[in-house]
Amino acid sequence: YYQPQVAARDGHVTGAEALARWQCEKYGQVPPAVFIPLLEQSGLILPVGRWILQKAVRQCKEWTRIDPDFVMSVNLSYVQIAEDDFLPFLESTLKEERLDPKNLVVELTETYLARESGTLKQLFDQVRALGVRIAMDDFGTGYSSLEILKNSPADIVKIDKTFIRDIRTSRFDATFIRFVVELCHDVDIRVCLEGVETPEEYQTVGQMGLDTIQGYLFGKPQPEETFEEKFFSE
Ligand code: C2E
Ligand code: CA
Ligand code: CA
Repeated sequence: YYQPQVAARDGHVTGAEALARWQCEKYGQVPPAVFIPLLEQSGLILPVGRWILQKAVRQCKEWTRIDPDFVMSVNLSYVQIAEDDFLPFLESTLKEERLDPKNLVVELTETYLARESGTLKQLFDQVRALGVRIAMDDFGTGYSSLEILKNSPADIVKIDKTFIRDIRTSRFDATFIRFVVELCHDVDIRVCLEGVETPEEYQTVGQMGLDTIQGYLFGKPQPEETFEEKFFSE
């Protein structure tokens, strides 16, 4: 499924995040929070993750024909990037689908991007050298200090949706968002806020200098057909 990402300023669609769905015959819709860890444990995340990336890149190529600046974000599991062939696969997928790397973002969680590993840092550099941007997902939920932003390999930071839940009542959450935006912009990182569900929430965060917003208010994750109907039919 694809969930729209919109510009914080005016709410126009700038891209989408690809979110895996699994319709099971026995259990019905199984949430990704359940099946992704299972795929990771079994190693099946490798073929499935490749399939997801390929499908998302192909879809993005189609949508860039309508909007050349459309950006597709794809979640990556730590298992996928630990695989030796990850980089060549990424590169060949972009080539095969003829997608400009600037239209692709890969998302990794904060906890994982904060790891002090030389091999990983090298990999992130290589990904960015391809022209693919890296987003730090679920920012604010890990245990890393803000120092992570200083030498961060991330081009985009996605503030976790827990920070929007009490935004109207919590001074802390509002200040946190503003603070992260300022800090990130200082070091040339774009900021996305996840989980905006109501017009009131949008009104509150609309003035905080965010770059993009993602949330049910602008669209739920949905199949490509309805996404197109909703966001690309003038
Ligand atoms: P995530 O990457 O943080 O994705 C955002 C989650 O927040 C999605 O849940 C999305 O449906 C939900 N969401 C978006 N807007 C709102 C909102 O306004 N309110 C609320 N309450 N929720 C909102 P989803 O699709 O259930 O995915 C859960 C997690 O599963 C993802 O969190 C991601 O970590 C993982 N996941 C999903 N697809 C993939 C995939 O293809 N590969 C990998 N490795 N992980 C995936
Ligand atoms: Ca994500
Ligand atoms: Ca997230």
